[in-house]
Amino acid sequence: MLALSELETIIGVEVHARLLTRTKLFCRCGTQPSAPNTRVCPVCAGLPGALPSLNEAAVAMGVRAGLALGCTINATSRFDRKSYFYPDLPKGFQCTQYAVPLCERGRLELEASARDGAASRRSVGIRRIHLEEDAAKSVHEAASGRSLIDFNRAGAPLIEIVSEPDLRSSSEASAYLRALRSALMFIGVNDGNLEDGSFRCDVNVSVRPRGSDALGARCELKNINSFRFVARAIEVESRKQREALSRGERVRQCTKQYNAERDDTVVLREKGEAEDYRYFAEPDLPPLVLPEGMIARERARVGELPWDKRARYQRDCGVSLESADTLVEHPALARYFERSIALGATPVRAANFIVNELRREVRYSGVEASFPIDEARLVELLALVDEGALSLKLAKDVYRRMVSDRVNASAVIDALGLSVIDDDARIEAVCVGVIRDNPRQADSFRAGKKGILGFLVGAVMKATDGRASPEKVNATLIRLLER
Ligand code: ADP
Ligand code: MG
Ligand code: ZN
Repeated sequence: MLALSELETIIGVEVHARLLTRTKLFCRCGTQPSAPNTRVCPVCAGLPGALPSLNEAAVAMGVRAGLALGCTINATSRFDRKSYFYPDLPKGFQCTQYAVPLCERGRLELEASARDGAASRRSVGIRRIHLEEDAAKSVHEAASGRSLIDFNRAGAPLIEIVSEPDLRSSSEASAYLRALRSALMFIGVNDGNLEDGSFRCDVNVSVRPRGSDALGARCELKNINSFRFVARAIEVESRKQREALSRGERVRQCTKQYNAERDDTVVLREKGEAEDYRYFAEPDLPPLVLPEGMIARERARVGELPWDKRARYQRDCGVSLESADTLVEHPALARYFERSIALGATPVRAANFIVNELRREVRYSGVEASFPIDEARLVELLALVDEGALSLKLAKDVYRRMVSDRVNASAVIDALGLSVIDDDARIEAVCVGVIRDNPRQADSFRAGKKGILGFLVGAVMKATDGRASPEKVNATLIRLLER
């Protein structure tokens, strides 16, 4: 029997990411949202005799993803049929890549921030990335009890990214998924939308005695649609398996679902060692031979990846790991930050303001985003803080007004008569008053209790509605008290 502490959790992740092509994988039907069953043709409806023809844009995006993740790209890969029966799969098989995938043997290096508390570094192997078509979408109507099928999604292009079982905790798994999601968005192949199912995660969990090389029986948790739930599902499942093993029971391989309401993992089906999908080479498609020059072309399109940007923000801009990590969560946010700096913002100030204030009101829509104020206005506002014309606290108030009234900083400042009190005589007058009204605190300061100064500064700030320059108030109070 095993003690809980002698067991370690092993996690491997499969991600299905929808590619941002204009048309489907094997036909010319569009991929944009549309009324149910309006984007369907004989090919994606699976009518007998309809022949697929491969979308080159999808191949290019798959190659780009492989390059971003350091994979070997196979100059020739193959499509196979994976047979199973389900109402959302009209052909009775899914066209996927099994024997020879498009990309293999990649790697993603994680550097976790203090925020998610994962091990500081972890290198995660990417076993393979392959192309495949999506199934149609089943819609279950609770009211009528009917199930409807929307074929718009049938044949949509996906890449499946399969990791090695290299992850060791829920926080590492979510760090991996976040990094992967942001990388796919940065290279423009996926919109990172978990709720819409364009980025879907299956998580495999097993436990084994620490130090053992063999893998234990795993449980596959299907289609979890939020990173928070991924972490919870792993924690719950890992605990259940540990407890089973420590009671001397066996873990049986199975497919499960995480139920958020019950915060529990529930068996969907027992899974034999190899489910029989009767894979065989797709007879209607020739081997996928990459066009001349495609790898080089896609390499040039990869651009700066989020983890490289994060390192650069830390190194060149002095931004903290946590802030840098947040800025690279989404390409539009990183772009906003970089434009702010290009327009003259002090990098650390801009990073902090974006992460702590502005980010809450950014509205994402796929790889695009809309911001509460544009970069130029943010830079104007932050410049006032740099010059000492606004305290940071005041700048936050001004920012709120800028957002609600859609105006620039100077308009808010004029309208509210907010400008910082920079006038030495006025500040001194307020300080004199505060010292007079707080003789006990003033005496303790003079007696050596320097910490009390904060109280007096606070009183001055209060008397000036936060508008006095804190540096000036500090200096003036000290001068007056030590006189
Ligand atoms: P399948 O295609 O049947 O889901 P694979 O062997 O291709 O199975 O593995 C799929 C995923 O499961 C991979 O991400 C892999 O890392 C992970 N995995 C495989 N075995 C284990 C295990 N024992 N524990 C945790 N993860 C595992
Ligand atoms: Mg699987
Ligand atoms: Zn079609």
